[in-house]
Amino acid sequence: MQIEVISTGTELLKGSNVNTNLATIGRAFGTIGKTVHRAQTVGDDREALIAAFHLAALTGDVILVTGGLGPTADDLTRDVAAEFFGMPLIRSRELADNLRRYYRRRHGTGPIPATLFRQADVPQGAVVLPNANGSAPGLYLNTTYAGHACHVFLLPGPPVEMEPILDAEVLPRLAALGDDSDRTLTRGFLVAGGAELMIEETLAPRFRDCAVALAYCASAEGTRVFLSAADAALLDEKFTEAHQLFSGSALPEGCLSLAEGLVRLLKEQHRTLSLAESCTGGLTAAAITAVPGASEVFLGSVTAYDNRVKATVLGVPEMLLATSGAVSADCAMAMTRGVRQLLHTDCSAAITGIAGPGGGTPEKPVGLVYVAAACGDREAVRECRFRGNRESIRLRSRAAALQLLYQLVTGAPTKG
Ligand code: ATP
Ligand code: MG
Repeated sequence: MQIEVISTGTELLKGSNVNTNLATIGRAFGTIGKTVHRAQTVGDDREALIAAFHLAALTGDVILVTGGLGPTADDLTRDVAAEFFGMPLIRSRELADNLRRYYRRRHGTGPIPATLFRQADVPQGAVVLPNANGSAPGLYLNTTYAGHACHVFLLPGPPVEMEPILDAEVLPRLAALGDDSDRTLTRGFLVAGGAELMIEETLAPRFRDCAVALAYCASAEGTRVFLSAADAALLDEKFTEAHQLFSGSALPEGCLSLAEGLVRLLKEQHRTLSLAESCTGGLTAAAITAVPGASEVFLGSVTAYDNRVKATVLGVPEMLLATSGAVSADCAMAMTRGVRQLLHTDCSAAITGIAGPGGGTPEKPVGLVYVAAACGDREAVRECRFRGNRESIRLRSRAAALQLLYQLVTGAPTKG
């Protein structure tokens, strides 16, 4: 089954919006063992959209289009699709009534712009896919092109509207088509702090002669390992084997970030957490609090940017700051101890470093960062030398602190 995606929206081409819908669609299809064959991105441009439909429909069995279903003049998807597949638009009275009510609720009385009702136009024979979070419904065109069947789904662009329709309306329809000839199942996990090459070195020899394909994806937080196979039982067996090889730094399946893995782990262990951050200025606390349920484990943090705060709030000795400096292993350790004591938590982590672009010296260059962590009776500090710009150094610093803490909490050995 060949799946084609067309993302529409000039803002995607200009870079003012990131095409997260494509990533969401790719992941969602993965859950039913399908892979997107090709993705095209086009602006709000009639000719470009028609050309994209041509290419997709030539060999595609499933075409998913996102965006361009709204009421404004730049929303072209519905009209172009209707024309392309020869399904004239018919205005649905029911959808028009819904839109009228929707408009009245949000904007009260007054004249309704006629263009609003474009969203009630349905290509003849298409199925309306209800949109609980917006005004434009999705549409499913079960049609043909050049003599072959074509399942065309038109979905709204805003991710909060697109995702529920994808889950509730698109995936079940595709799963029901029952074309399993090219099925591959994929499972994956994140190895915290693991370098791609080292992970491959561990895994590749063990998986050489089995029908499981391995893929790696490196990020600031570590490496994601993906295993794919057609046979679910084989995949489960090999997944468990691979996951166990990295126990201590392998996050549970489904944990997409270190913060998520850490919150889950601390919850299981009934442990609490505090943070002290200098060069990351609260980035780590933001990541932890972005995880639902973080309040069960996270008590708070101190953004100790200035040395006076390190000294007066966290109790870092003035002498230490004068001799070792704020960017030092000693200071990181004193910060993590200080915040743990201050907030009475079981665990803590601290970050201090030089994110640049200014402030570096030959002895302490930009990118020199110390992270420290404490959990129970274990403590560790790590020196990191990151390259990159201010943003990437800050993100890597956060990842390093969370990795170190994760290893302490799981009881895995820490180095450095
Ligand atoms: P609307 O009724 O809001 O106009 P629409 O279906 O016409 O919805 P678009 O106009 O293409 O969709 O996009 C609306 C908004 O949805 C965009 O401004 C953007 O914020 C978001 N969006 C669109 N496409 C994507 C995408 N591929 N990934 C992430 N966000 C997107
Ligand atoms: Mg729009």
